[in-house]
Formats: sequence, structure tokens, C-alpha cells
Amino acid sequence: MADTPLFERLTLLGLGLIGSSVARAVKRHGLAGEIVGHARSEATRARSMELGFVDRVEPDPAEAVRGADLVMICTPLGTYASLAQAMLPGLREGAIVSDVGSVKSCVLRDLQPILPPTVHLVPGHPIAGTEHSGPDAGFAELFEGRFCILTPPDGTDAAAVDRLVALWQAIGSTVEVMSAEHHDRVLAVTSHLPHLIAYTIVGTATDLEEHLKSEVIRFSASGFRDFTRIAASDPVMWRDIFLNNKEAVLEVIQRFNEDLTALQRAIRWGEGDKLEQLFTRTRAIRRGVIDARQA
Ligand code: NAP
Repeated sequence: MADTPLFERLTLLGLGLIGSSVARAVKRHGLAGEIVGHARSEATRARSMELGFVDRVEPDPAEAVRGADLVMICTPLGTYASLAQAMLPGLREGAIVSDVGSVKSCVLRDLQPILPPTVHLVPGHPIAGTEHSGPDAGFAELFEGRFCILTPPDGTDAAAVDRLVALWQAIGSTVEVMSAEHHDRVLAVTSHLPHLIAYTIVGTATDLEEHLKSEVIRFSASGFRDFTRIAASDPVMWRDIFLNNKEAVLEVIQRFNEDLTALQRAIRWGEGDKLEQLFTRTRAIRRGVIDARQA
């Protein structure tokens, strides 16, 4: 594993699960000369220093990014535009600005009009995470064996993309480069719809009468438990994901509703063969996920 710093100074805006995991991994592998952190609250900044995954914290975004050759935004998507405005006075010429947000077209929409042409915008999304939040939740191994998708807009400096690819590879990820639109359509199916289904199921159970609710919790190991883990994910982060990937998500909900209606019909008319056919197909998909080591 490379132990030469790839970057002189890495600034992380946002020090929660993802930001603190990037910091821990970069520190472990010696990939940045200095790691500077910024978060909204004094409590998070102080805790990050205490945990020791940043060398320094700054309350002002412009001061945090000053002199950094890599700035990585690790905050909820809804904060990007105001954070970009706030960091602008400190941005160094030639710096790479990246992020870890779960939707990618909106990053171009929100950041491209603000950032000067002298910086390289290379958005990214590590396909790794947990349902936990905050600086204590992060760990250095989070990205090992996981994909990281980069979505540089057309015409991005190839050397800037290569440097970011090298960073993600050094912390254990396999990097894929694709367009922001393609990313958003794929993730609507693989991540956003499953979360929406989990939020719906857990919400429905919560609305049931009190006595039934306690039974739901007692017997949750029969399937419900897995949905509650997903539905425990950060509410602000997921609000922003659905608001910013509206079109792709609405399209897959439409498809999902049609397929659900077909299943409902099969159950009503006792069409067991149809049910069995689908469940056999989905079982094979699970085997594919395991073979791709994404289970
Ligand atoms: P998190 O644990 O809740 O951390 C968010 C961080 O952003 C906190 O340090 C918070 O500071 C800071 N923050 C929030 N608003 C801010 C503002 N206006 N100015 C400055 N700092 C601000 O969230 P996370 O799970 O790391 O998610 C961060 C990003 O990663 C999101 O864009 C998400 O889409 C993406 N992502 C998440 C996952 C996942 O599984 N969680 C996976 C892949 C990508 P305070 O603590 O002071 O509030």
C-alpha cells in the first residue's frame, strides 16, 4: 500500500460517518501531508480533534480549505451551494474539489456555477456506509473492497481524475468512472428505492395499533428487522437524496408499483407458478451479489 502523500493538504468539510472514515483511512495510509477538518458544530469539531483523525479543525469553511490541494465535501447534499459560497475566498488555484454525496447530477448543478474555472471539480460517491452518523461512527476500513464511483463532467483535467482515483484505490476501493446521470439512474434502483420501501414498511408498522406494534417488534427477526436497520439511516441525508434525485426515483417507483400490482394480482388469483418463477429469479440475483463480493 502506498505510503507517500498523494496530497499536501486534504480538507474535509463534514466530519460524520463518511468524512471521518476518509480521514481515518487517509491518515492510516499516510496519503496526505495534513488533514484539516470543518463541521458545522463546535461539538463535532472538538470531538474530531479528540479522536485524532484530523490534524486541525477550522470553524470557517474558507479558512479550512485555504492551501488545500484536495477539498472533499462530506455534508448532506442540501448544504453544498451555501458551503461552496462560504469556502470560495479560501480556494487555492488548481485545487481538486470533490465530494461523497449519494446523488451526482445535483452536485454539478449546485457547484459548477459557483466554482472558479481554476479548480477541478471531480464529484465522487463511495458505495459504502452504515446506518450510523457522526464522527464516532467512522472507521478506516469502511471503503475496503467497496466501489467508489467518480462522475467528472466532460472536459475535466485527466490528471486531477487520476489523482483522486489513486486516493480511493489506496484506501481499498475499486473505482468506476461514469456520467452523473447514469449514476443517478443506477442508484435510484439499487439504493434509493430500497430505502424508500424500508421507510414505508417501518412507517406502516408504526401506524398500527399499540398491541400489534409490540408483536411486530417481538417477532421482527422474521424479516422486519432488516428493514428497521435500513430505515434507521440519517433522516436529513435521505430527505436530501430524494429531493435531489426526484426524476430517477419517481421513474423507478412507477415501475415498482406496476410490478407490485402484478404480484397482488397473482396472489389474488392463486397463480402460484407466477410467484415461484419470480422468487426463483430473485434468488439467482442474490447469488450474483454474493459472487460479486457485495454481500
Ligand atoms: P453524518 O454522519 O450525519 O455527518 C454529516 C457531517 O456534515 C457532520 O459533521 C455535520 O456537522 C456536517 N454538516 C452538516 N451540515 C453542515 C453545514 N451546513 N456546514 C458544515 N458542516 C455541516 O453524514 P454522513 O453519513 O457522513 O453523510 C455525509 C454525506 O455522505 C452525504 O452527502 C451522504 O449522501 C453521503 N454518503 C453517505 C453514506 C452513508 O451510508 N451514510 C454513504 C455514501 C455517501 P455537525 O456534526 O456539526 O452537524
